[in-house]
Amino acid sequence: MRKARIGARRLDLIPPYLFAEIDRKVQEKKRAGIDVISLGIGDPDLPTPGRIVSVLQETAADPSNHRYASYFGLAELREAISGWYHERSGVELDAHTEILPTLGSKDGISHVPLALVDPGDVVLAPEPGYTVYVTGAIMAGAEPYLMPLTAENQWLPDLEAIPSDVAERARLMWLNYPNNPTAATADREFLERAVEFCRRHDIILCHDAPYSEIAFDGYRPLTLFEIPGAKEIGLEFHSLSKTYNMTGWRIGWVCGRADLVNLIGQLKTNIDSGIFQAVQWAAIEAMNGGEEETKAACTVYARRHRLVADTLNSLGWKIKPPRATFYVWAEVPKGYDSIGFASHVLDEVGVNITPGVGFGAHGEGYFRLSVTAPDARLEEAMSRMRKLRKLTL
Ligand SMILES: *Cc1c(COP(=O)(O)O)cnc(C)c1O
Repeated sequence: MRKARIGARRLDLIPPYLFAEIDRKVQEKKRAGIDVISLGIGDPDLPTPGRIVSVLQETAADPSNHRYASYFGLAELREAISGWYHERSGVELDAHTEILPTLGSKDGISHVPLALVDPGDVVLAPEPGYTVYVTGAIMAGAEPYLMPLTAENQWLPDLEAIPSDVAERARLMWLNYPNNPTAATADREFLERAVEFCRRHDIILCHDAPYSEIAFDGYRPLTLFEIPGAKEIGLEFHSLSKTYNMTGWRIGWVCGRADLVNLIGQLKTNIDSGIFQAVQWAAIEAMNGGEEETKAACTVYARRHRLVADTLNSLGWKIKPPRATFYVWAEVPKGYDSIGFASHVLDEVGVNITPGVGFGAHGEGYFRLSVTAPDARLEEAMSRMRKLRKLTL
């Protein structure tokens, strides 16, 4: 007997992938021999610093690293993270109870609802936003409630607009600053209000902070635990992906309130079996080795941001380079929706940008461009964009 369907119903609940149409077009153009420049993906083009690669090479050859790693990460790694965090923000984190290494932060973000949220509970998520906040909640049977981010609110959610019955049913709130896709940053005053709100409504505040080190002109993004009282309700997710150009290595961590970190660890013992120890030694090297390379990468991103701002502004936009992240978030010209404009740019000049609506309905009217293409490619993309004609902003 054949079963009525293949595949689980929960996959049907995941919102449709809105980039599919653009992806199909990009593939079509490439097949036709067109040199498409992709500014669509936030993935550093700069290589992982050599000192980190060298430690991987050495430790990968050592058989003591070839066996299953501890579920909770090497003590040396948790201590390196604790030291990094303290140096970075003056905050003390207990290396044994308040830090858990993860297989990139997506591992922690996607799984946290399974550890902390019951079916039917509400998960608050920013929109536009990183789609994993919503899909992780759906996978756990929870109900996502989207908090709109708008230009009028500087891309910060309006906490007081959350209906009180929703706040009462909410178990978890996602925030992400510096923000993907909007490149917005959050000041102390907003973070204090968010902590106060979550304490008042007994909500776990999950701050996703992979861009905490990608900032320019002396700006230092706050980490969550610099806010008094945050550790009693909060978790923060960090990643080596963006800070050390290590997206392919799959390593990050979650830190914060010990019993919450412990529950995520308990869940993960049933899902994965730790992080390859050679990758952990390389991460220890990364965390202990200072921030020179990260600063150098930020200098490169800042220069690219100025190039993009100059180019777009010469075409009629009025944008300022962002204070953080490697994204530019800008309005689409009049007469286009975001998918229409991304298609137009792809068709006219072979440059791939991301339509804002792919990050949620409130992303409509905007596009995201990532400056993680090599300098020469980004310059070529910008000189092609200068050929776009008759845009009205
Ligand atoms: C890149 C990114 C992540 C996760 O990256 P990992 O490689 O899984 O560590 C998480 N959140 C946001 C908003 C991101 O942009």
